[in-house]
Amino acid sequence: MRELPIIINNEENFSLVEITHLKKWFPVQQNFLDQILAGHIDHVRAVDDVSFTIKRGEAFGLAGESGSGKTTIGRLAIGLEKPTAGKVSFDGIDLSSLCDEDLRKLRRRMQVIFQDPMASLNPRMCLGDSISHGLKIHYPESAAEHRDITLSIMEKVGLTPPHFFFTKFPHQISGGQRQRVVIARALITNPDLILADEPIAMADVSVRALLLDLMVQLKNELNLTYLFITHDLATAKYICDRIGILYLGRMAEMGDLREVYGYPLHPYTQALMAAVPVPDPHKRRTQIMPAGEIPNPINPPPGCRFHPRCPIAKGVCSKDEPELRELRSGHLVACHFAEQFL
Ligand code: SF4
Repeated sequence: MRELPIIINNEENFSLVEITHLKKWFPVQQNFLDQILAGHIDHVRAVDDVSFTIKRGEAFGLAGESGSGKTTIGRLAIGLEKPTAGKVSFDGIDLSSLCDEDLRKLRRRMQVIFQDPMASLNPRMCLGDSISHGLKIHYPESAAEHRDITLSIMEKVGLTPPHFFFTKFPHQISGGQRQRVVIARALITNPDLILADEPIAMADVSVRALLLDLMVQLKNELNLTYLFITHDLATAKYICDRIGILYLGRMAEMGDLREVYGYPLHPYTQALMAAVPVPDPHKRRTQIMPAGEIPNPINPPPGCRFHPRCPIAKGVCSKDEPELRELRSGHLVACHFAEQFL
């Protein structure tokens, strides 16, 4: 069988992930008969022309409301979905050029931390077997070492003593410990990229900060690259170096996290920022989230997709779609009138 060329480029500014003009449209009428009866095919435009890069060792956040397309982009980024158009490159390799077998081999370098650990762990498998499952798939030749590698990863993520946890089952441990198991399972193949999809959303508030600290510590120790998906800007602040704000399948704003949080230039980002709770009872929010729901992605509004909810929309906003423009160094925004916030 042909071996997949593994090129590991450790240059500091090397883009480990490159997403270029990515689109993912899902047909609403799934089967041929429905398409004939409807006379046309409607599409849910989950992702509609999104581009960004993630440097090696960087944590890139994707934030937005439900339905903004962030989870679909995550799945496309690691090859779990095929794009309708556009390109995803990982370490210089175009994922669309790989056969299923090569993609499977490359996946040991791209692992996932899912939102709900209870749903993603097999209830009949002990924790040690769940964590080491990736080793059995990708490194069957080194079976004699699997137990020691698994115990060492369990210790690294705080499942101590590891021998005690190895034989436990998911229902016998707490929610925070289950999330540590999922993190250990993602690390077991020594990946470069971790897709973390709302990784602490199901954890108790009391352990969220501990889990985020653990993720930051592991990133620094193992030079991991994160694609961190969240609806919560307060969470992204702990872990991300750069962030992209998505709205209805398009990038509204993108840049260095401190830059975007310090100088939000898009009215949607400003609304999301205003909704972040402040730990000071004397400070009140000056703004609330824009009125209304995120529009239907089957038939997005013309022009700027945010215009039906935007407090500063003008006539041009419902006609011309704004381009993503760089208004400050490395800080891009898709709004016709963002200059007024400079
Ligand atoms: Fe609001 Fe217009 Fe800017 Fe869109 S382009 S965010 S509608 S001001």
